[in-house]
Amino acid sequence: MFAHRKVLVLNKSWRAIGIITLEKAMAKIFSTYDDGTPKAKIIDPSNNFMLFEWEEWSMIRPSEGELKIRTINNSFRVPEVIQYTKYDKMPSTKAHFNRKSLYRRDRSTCQYCGEKKIAEQLSLDHVLPRCQGGMTNWENCTTSCKPCNHHKGSKLRKPSRMPYKPDYYSLVSKWKNRKIHVPHESWYKYLGITPPDLASDDTEGSYLGTFRFDL
Ligand SMILES: [Zn+2]
Repeated sequence: MFAHRKVLVLNKSWRAIGIITLEKAMAKIFSTYDDGTPKAKIIDPSNNFMLFEWEEWSMIRPSEGELKIRTINNSFRVPEVIQYTKYDKMPSTKAHFNRKSLYRRDRSTCQYCGEKKIAEQLSLDHVLPRCQGGMTNWENCTTSCKPCNHHKGSKLRKPSRMPYKPDYYSLVSKWKNRKIHVPHESWYKYLGITPPDLASDDTEGSYLGTFRFDL
């Protein structure tokens, strides 16, 4: 039931590099390198910088009212922050091509009629149609509302702005206007931001340069 809870990932140098599901985090915690080192360790949010392997972590009893992973005979604390034991790189700053990022590049606006729509009403349009050899990439795909896409069919029509490859930070900055969701208080100290009640207006910007958002 917790499989989709989010876990913050730090690299070996304690830099926040991403967010994964609890399910993936557990897989990392349980898998090991050839020398027996676990791929990830759990950081105890209530005990600054203490690192645990699963064996030790599973010995700590959850406190009253704390969320637990229950098995038939036991209950365990739910990891919120993990650290990769050997991985020391920073996230890639390439903008990966996918539908969500494409809509973000085009600000969810149909590039044919200029209307802003929600994701469900948008579609990915090949400027040079696929049947004419058009590729599925940043340079040939644009955001279209469904009626415009349907109307266009396989005809050639010029979008208001020709598709281009954005860089990662321009995508992040378009996304930045949205509120960043931090589900666990324990994340704040690793993200280098303060909880909202203490935050000044520009705190979100302080870690945008180093943190990989799941775009
Ligand atoms: Zn349209």
